[in-house]
Amino acid sequence: MKKLLRCCDVISGCDFVARGVNENEIIMRVTQHARVVHDVAWMTPDLLKRVLAAIRDDEPVIAEG
Ligand SMILES: [Zn+2]
Repeated sequence: MKKLLRCCDVISGCDFVARGVNENEIIMRVTQHARVVHDVAWMTPDLLKRVLAAIRDDEPVIAEG
């Protein structure tokens, strides 16, 4: 099951979505995104906790019929 993180679940008003095969990949992507877009120099333990809490399973979209 792939993982997904909506940035707006952590920082409101952002439509960035990070996808990855596991939490580490998500964190890597969102750290880079936060640095570039939100001017977050590094992931604080508090921010990391909120990111981890916001990670969801990426439901596969299956076209039926
Ligand atoms: Zn964002």
